[in-house]
Amino acid sequence: MRKSIVFSTLLAFGCYLTDAKTYNTKVVILGGGVSGISAALNLTANGIDDIIMVEARDALGGRAQDVPFADVNLELGCNWVQGLGSNPINQLALKYKLRTAVTDGDDVVFYDENGKINATERYNELNNYYEIMSEDAVKRVKKDQVDLSGKVGLDIAGWYAKDAIDEAIEYYVWDWEMGESPELSSTLFTVVNDQWTYGNKVFGPDSDGDNFVVDPRGFKYIFQQEAKQVFKANDKRLLLNTTVTKIDYNDKGVTVHTKNGDTIHAEFAITTFSIGVLQHKDIEWSPKLPAWKLEGIYGFHMATYTKIFMNFPTQFWDDNQFTVWADPDTRGYYNSWQNLNAKGFLPDNSTSNIFFVTATQDLSYRVESMTDEEVKDEIMAVLRRMYGNDIPEPTDFMFPRWHSNPLFRGSYSNWPIGEMDEHHVNMKASLKNRVFFAGEAMSAEYYGFLQGAWFSGAQTGLQVAQCVKGKCPKSEYYPEITNAKLHASVVRNTLLKK
Ligand SMILES: Cc1cc2nc3c(=O)[nH]c(=O)nc-3n(C[C@H](O)[C@H](O)[C@H](O)COP(=O)(O)OP(=O)(O)OC[C@H]3O[C@@H](n4cnc5c(N)ncnc54)[C@H](O)[C@@H]3O)c2cc1C
Repeated sequence: MRKSIVFSTLLAFGCYLTDAKTYNTKVVILGGGVSGISAALNLTANGIDDIIMVEARDALGGRAQDVPFADVNLELGCNWVQGLGSNPINQLALKYKLRTAVTDGDDVVFYDENGKINATERYNELNNYYEIMSEDAVKRVKKDQVDLSGKVGLDIAGWYAKDAIDEAIEYYVWDWEMGESPELSSTLFTVVNDQWTYGNKVFGPDSDGDNFVVDPRGFKYIFQQEAKQVFKANDKRLLLNTTVTKIDYNDKGVTVHTKNGDTIHAEFAITTFSIGVLQHKDIEWSPKLPAWKLEGIYGFHMATYTKIFMNFPTQFWDDNQFTVWADPDTRGYYNSWQNLNAKGFLPDNSTSNIFFVTATQDLSYRVESMTDEEVKDEIMAVLRRMYGNDIPEPTDFMFPRWHSNPLFRGSYSNWPIGEMDEHHVNMKASLKNRVFFAGEAMSAEYYGFLQGAWFSGAQTGLQVAQCVKGKCPKSEYYPEITNAKLHASVVRNTLLKK
């Protein structure tokens, strides 16, 4: 990295001098989340250390973030090691002895407006129908049939949510995992995503499981420790508190502009910004992104998954790990509750009583637009319907606003119905073999998961290392994506007659 300091004048609310810096480097990595760290490790392992990493926050880890709450530390973002066995995230958790608790989604009780209900049989039925949907998906792929929404996939398999209890079960099994409803999600890619992480072919026979991270060092610890293999203390190649505003690119290289006036000239850039950030136009591109690229980026979905934490003076809920509320009027309304008082979750010396609920999709957008007090009142009204009027008020209350956060614009990606393989290829295809795209969403197999971020960063790091060495692999993208057969369709008949 070669750095020259240029003094320039910045006009903002008056006139003052600031030292805008100019950097020159071979590879600039944009974003210091799991994907950026993985890219940096792989570039370094391949002999490329003329790199700069730019991160807007004051710490590495991205969506791996924790905060103190009551007398413990809670994860605002990623919380589970999802998929065990040889999953690299599981391997890192083992390497750094991350404290985790085994999650059992079947340890669940159900409530509706009449109190506790027995819905276990119906819950098991849905799990069986989900298996049938997965088997059907394989058959469809073999016959080259088109994708279906999750709603249709489940329906064909035999499941239809006929009442509020069914809807609550469906939300818990589907939305609480995918972050979006079956109507919006792809059946085929949901099954693909499941199989790569939990099927035993990739991560081995022990892969099917989820471990909930309860380590006081935070989930971020394992990633920050890995990053230390690349960036030593006060490493000048790591620019924290530096927000990217604009990216200029051409077939010779890339120039990155930052909010504080710095400029970074690089031969290659790897952006790891979330698909939400790319969709939200938080970054200006020059030249503008081509249509094929936009088609890829906007076709994908950034889901929002909001954990709303409450600490109470006493525990008034069941000892089970999970509780599901079947709201009589609105599907998914404060549906999925998690009991951190369950054995193994809180440290032994904790006196907290933590019960938290997860919102997704429209409810997440809604709560983000409300004050904490308004959300708390709404949630307490639900809890009183479940447990009666005598329950205490929470002493602590907190939730993150992922959707409106300009550095994330959501929680994790979900493959929507209508997004084809080719769209995904375009979403991650490089621009002029100079700007490369990594991040969880860019993994067709593991999108949404930490392992998606890890693998995508690694692959892109290796690809760019080859480019630096003058052996850039050919960039693949689809300039035009065509429909499946439209022979008899009304679209063809109508539009071609015009
Ligand atoms: C609520 C929630 C729950 C989740 N649960 C799980 C889970 O249990 N298990 C699991 O496997 N995964 C989970 N995930 C997903 C997982 O956290 C992500 O897949 C992963 O962290 C994404 O890493 P990344 O490097 O691709 O992106 P990011 O972590 O988003 O990294 C991108 C980085 O770019 C930075 N950035 C953005 N804009 C700018 C800018 N303009 N200038 C400079 N820097 C910028 C950001 O600050 C960020 O650090 C969850 C995520 C959330 C939010």
